[in-house]
Amino acid sequence: MNIVLLGAPGAGKGTQAARLVQEFGAAHISTGDMLRAAVAAGTPLGQKAKSYMDAGELVPDDVIIGLVKERLQEPDAKNFILDGFPRTTAQAVALDAELNNIERPLEAALLIDVDFEVIVKRLTSRRLCRSCGYIGSVADEVCPTCGGEMYQRDDDNEETVRTRLDVYEKSTAPLVDYYRGCELLVTIDGDRDPDVVYADVKKALNL
Ligand code: ADP
Ligand code: ZN
Repeated sequence: MNIVLLGAPGAGKGTQAARLVQEFGAAHISTGDMLRAAVAAGTPLGQKAKSYMDAGELVPDDVIIGLVKERLQEPDAKNFILDGFPRTTAQAVALDAELNNIERPLEAALLIDVDFEVIVKRLTSRRLCRSCGYIGSVADEVCPTCGGEMYQRDDDNEETVRTRLDVYEKSTAPLVDYYRGCELLVTIDGDRDPDVVYADVKKALNL
């Protein structure tokens, strides 16, 4: 399984990726998670990325492309689900070149499609578990799966969410046509129960 998940922030890419990983065991390569880990660890990459992330802007292409190329070299990345990458045409072109290089062509680009106003509501009420990464909502005082502490991501406030959606529209949405052009695009309606979306994702991948 070598796939790319496309869709606006909050469309549910991470949720669907986690399910695919659990059932089929590919590497979940989330550039957002990698960057947040770098920020938390205080590495030079994290220090560089933090201001962009807090503002809802994209981290520069060269930084992200280097990060993903390295990750794809790791032995567990033979099968991968890319989540949050590529986000610009330059990243998509670099990815194509790298996958060509390592002879692992993409099988599909799944677009999880959700209306922007639905996304604003979802993200501003989203809360995450500090211990296990569970994605819940303001209604969850503690994590329903592990009892851990729930927190709100720094970039899940309304102003930053709107910036992220603008950035998506301008920089990332053009990738939909890019992947349609290579006949890899499959669009899935993401404004439904995650189980129903997941059933469609599997159907789209012939799983
Ligand atoms: P979301 O998809 O919910 O916006 P992510 O966790 O994928 O969140 O990303 C959070 C932030 O990390 C982005 O707003 C951006 O600053 C940075 N980021 C993640 N992936 C990329 C990427 N491929 N290119 C540039 N910046 C990225
Ligand atoms: Zn938890």
